[in-house]
Amino acid sequence: MADFDVDLFVIGAGSGGTRAARISAGHGARVMIAEEDRIGGTCVIRGCVPKKLFVYASRFADEFEDAAGFGWSVGTPSFDWPTLRDAVANEVTRLSGLYRKGLEGAKVAIREERAVVEGPNTVRLQKSGETIRARHILVATGGYPAFDPPISGGELGISSNEIFHLPSLPRRMLVVGGGYIALEFASVFRRLGVEVTVLHRGDNILRGFEEDLRVRLRDALVHAGITLRLGCTIDRIEQLPDGTRRAHCATGEPIDADVVLVATGRRPNTVGLGLENAGVKLGPIGQVMVDANSASSVPSIHAVGDVTNRINLTPVAIREGHAFADSAFGGKPWAMDHHVVASAVFTTPEIGTVGLTEQQAFAAGYELRVFEAGFRPMKATISGRQERIYMKLVVDAKTDRMLGVHILGHDAGEIIQAVAIAVTMGATKADFDRTVALHPSAAEELVTMRTVRQ
Ligand code: FAD
Repeated sequence: MADFDVDLFVIGAGSGGTRAARISAGHGARVMIAEEDRIGGTCVIRGCVPKKLFVYASRFADEFEDAAGFGWSVGTPSFDWPTLRDAVANEVTRLSGLYRKGLEGAKVAIREERAVVEGPNTVRLQKSGETIRARHILVATGGYPAFDPPISGGELGISSNEIFHLPSLPRRMLVVGGGYIALEFASVFRRLGVEVTVLHRGDNILRGFEEDLRVRLRDALVHAGITLRLGCTIDRIEQLPDGTRRAHCATGEPIDADVVLVATGRRPNTVGLGLENAGVKLGPIGQVMVDANSASSVPSIHAVGDVTNRINLTPVAIREGHAFADSAFGGKPWAMDHHVVASAVFTTPEIGTVGLTEQQAFAAGYELRVFEAGFRPMKATISGRQERIYMKLVVDAKTDRMLGVHILGHDAGEIIQAVAIAVTMGATKADFDRTVALHPSAAEELVTMRTVRQ
């Protein structure tokens, strides 16, 4: 197409954009990608990856304690925050470099500046002023942490973006929010020795997750020493002369902390992107409205990942980007199936979940058979740790199909990834039953549950 400078212009070099750019270039398309921050996006730079490394760091606290029951003496462990922070930052830099190499290797032209949409086929690079004519534009700009609803004095708090760079480990931390990001950081910092309070306006944590897991995780977090204040709305934050942040709530005592992490939600990154000028339809929170093929209301503009606010997870963004690239340039159109997507919450204990919760399945009109198991993990018998694993299977009584599997406990994320294969294949409870157990393991319970919950 002589008319166009490139076949594809991708805005945002995060999970979805990078995958779409590389695959499209592999199909022979001339591709340019713009990134206004660091290559790699949220997951690599300020999301999944550094977060999971923090989670690993935090769990050593339990390991040191548990070791004693098995005969080890490890002295008094101590933790050095700058060592962890800097090691994680270095790893993030390494990974960002790999993402860059991947793009360069695929011959994708990289522009490290902000891009805005000027029309259905036109993108402008803000710093250089360069205007690019593109046959296709892919919006993969992700999301940003939103202080929502706005809190008076909210600027005294930090978002998950800043938590990775704290100059020192705070003594007291207030986490505002009850979603997975809020709870993961609460869990991490508690184990690193910080006094953590979680303040959430809902009456329980993790809205949308399986009820039986929500209740058990809540209790486990309290048991780990986190103070939970539920049903509490924050009114304002003020700074005291000694630097302390004081959060005032609609009910109850104010809370003092050295750091206030506001993790009340994320919003699609479309502000000032120029999409409205090009005629792209946006949804109520600014998300790009797309069809199953990630096509927006403008035929030449597609969008993938968090900016579409479908399922805001890295593997989903990657797969949507891949489907777009194959469909637009590879001659093999396909669409991501959003029905069965496993996910984890990397608190300690962690959650692994796939498919419908019992509540969702019930609301959808299924007649259900529910199986559950709760037990003490083998390791805890000798370590003495007060810990239980909980598993729930949600089965369609009519077809015997496994609708959902939900796990709270050690390695739940790892286990659920494998279970998700079976659920994606349409496994039935009978398939689980005829699967031979692997002993001794926690996961064997998944194939040995025989009694329907009454
Ligand atoms: P992003 O990865 O956010 O990439 C968008 C990119 O676009 C960014 O680099 C941004 O700088 C750039 N950009 C935006 N506007 C412009 C512009 N105008 N011009 C140029 N560049 C622009 N997901 C999981 O699956 N597992 C997890 O454990 C997990 N943990 C998370 C923990 C945290 C703390 C957070 C915040 C998120 C986590 N996520 C996790 C979610 C995951 O990070 C996102 O779903 C994923 O990164 C979305 O990818 P994306 O391509 O849509 O956007």
